[in-house]
Amino acid sequence: MKGITLLSPAKINLSIDVLEKLPNGYHSVEMIMQSINLCDIVTIEKRYGGITINCEEPYVPNDRRNIAYKAAEAFFAHSPVRGGAHISIKKNIPVSAGLGGGSTDAAGVLKGLNQLYGNILSRSQLLKIAGTIGADVSFCIDGGTQLARGIGDELTRLPDFENVDIVLVKPSFPISTSYVYRHLKLEDLTDRPDTSGLIDAITGMDIPAVAKKMRNVLETVSVSKYPELKTIMERFMDYGALAARMSGSGPTIFGVFENPEKALFAKEKFLKDYKNVYYVKTIGRGDKTLW
Ligand code: ATP
Repeated sequence: MKGITLLSPAKINLSIDVLEKLPNGYHSVEMIMQSINLCDIVTIEKRYGGITINCEEPYVPNDRRNIAYKAAEAFFAHSPVRGGAHISIKKNIPVSAGLGGGSTDAAGVLKGLNQLYGNILSRSQLLKIAGTIGADVSFCIDGGTQLARGIGDELTRLPDFENVDIVLVKPSFPISTSYVYRHLKLEDLTDRPDTSGLIDAITGMDIPAVAKKMRNVLETVSVSKYPELKTIMERFMDYGALAARMSGSGPTIFGVFENPEKALFAKEKFLKDYKNVYYVKTIGRGDKTLW
């Protein structure tokens, strides 16, 4: 095999709780992550040596600053393979959106290179390397529905919460993740997720109960800085969503719907005011329609 193409799916957060600030500056979190069928297309070709990357998307670097490049470097550093790769990425996932676009590209490169070079590393080795690249990269190796703890890299598989209708709205302003964490006041948090209740609802595939229990404590910072996010959430409810929440540290807001008709109705409404609006579905781990 000389080359491989993979679909690398985005994620949303069904919940985010922040438990404490760690001495090293990281935060200990408890969050439920969910893959969706909005995917970047990652193509990897074998080379004799060196890594090159091409991504024709504004604001995404075309050199070693690209997280997918770092993933390839880490793969070659941790495996006996002495080769190289050319990586090209077609971005469909909006950048800096809270949808894990960079992390999923990195996971795609790790999985793709491993397949190209004869599955030389085990899944647990791949997960270990993923953890050195970025906290969300580990989740993206298997995707689906997972509980993430620690700094986001201690993962527990949950039953797949798949085929649920979701609409994403990404406003055009960026939100810095580090700004959000720096301004988060843990002592003031009152509306935290009931993570075990949410896991029960996911296990029962009870979509209204999941929607009702979704919480993201990072909204306390992002929504007060950008009131437009609150307006988007209210509009989602007016358009028939079961609930609407922010993904990651924002700015993407997602709404959960009972059926495709309601989701498509909301999508059309939002398209009048926003360019980046997507109707997607949640997908299970290793979704066969994608991998
Ligand atoms: P998360 O939800 O994990 O916080 P995000 O969706 O908010 O991530 P990304 O799109 O993953 O944000 O990445 C944002 C930053 O990373 C940008 O500054 C971008 O230039 C840089 N970056 C590096 N490599 C990539 C990549 N392959 N895809 C997207 N952004 C990348």
